[in-house]
Amino acid sequence: MGGAKRIVLLGPPGAGKGTQAARLSAELGWVHLSSGDILRAEVRSATPLGAQAEQFMRRGDLVPDGLIIEMIAARITNVEGFILDGFPRTVPQAEALEAVTALDVVLNIDLSRAEVVRRLSSRRVCADCGAIHNLANDGLADDAPCPGCGGRLMQREDDEAEVIERRFDVYAELTAPLISFYRERGVLATIDGGRAGDEVYADVLQAVGR
Ligand code: AMP
Repeated sequence: MGGAKRIVLLGPPGAGKGTQAARLSAELGWVHLSSGDILRAEVRSATPLGAQAEQFMRRGDLVPDGLIIEMIAARITNVEGFILDGFPRTVPQAEALEAVTALDVVLNIDLSRAEVVRRLSSRRVCADCGAIHNLANDGLADDAPCPGCGGRLMQREDDEAEVIERRFDVYAELTAPLISFYRERGVLATIDGGRAGDEVYADVLQAVGR
């Protein structure tokens, strides 16, 4: 594929990484890898990895680096264009990634703590098509069906108030240092995530050279 890019999406939970990555992947054909989605599927299928990961995810803590790095490395080998969403999340993960592949651009989608809490508490995910919606922003009732496919909208277990706070703390302590890590490598582009999805997406396209 000509011009395929290797992209990392960085940013706190709720910044819109998943939404932007899905759109970019659908439009440009690059593989979208969400470490959180892969882990949730492992938990649902009750695999050994899922069984180990579940306790950390439920608390809003990170799954140990040793479990994550292989899981992602195996999926990007020989892949030309990819969008990593939720990985890397620690400096050791970023160093391990660097040993496997170069990156073209790291998009840092910036969002304040207050906005993270507001968004995640009204976030819902469609159990059927996987689309991400926001009750408040999309004007949906609590029991509304998925506007896209009519499926059932569910709240993620880790989108509950105390867990949201914990996840932001974990982000600030362990993941935010990756901003300077990638700035030093000259691949960082920061985008204001506190706007409508379309506006954010316009900046995303520009940052990836489209
Ligand atoms: P996410 O869907 O990206 O918010 O991820 C949900 C949860 O999965 C996180 O709170 C972590 O427990 C776990 N997780 C996802 N990606 C990683 C990662 N790169 N390293 C460690 N844990 C992760």
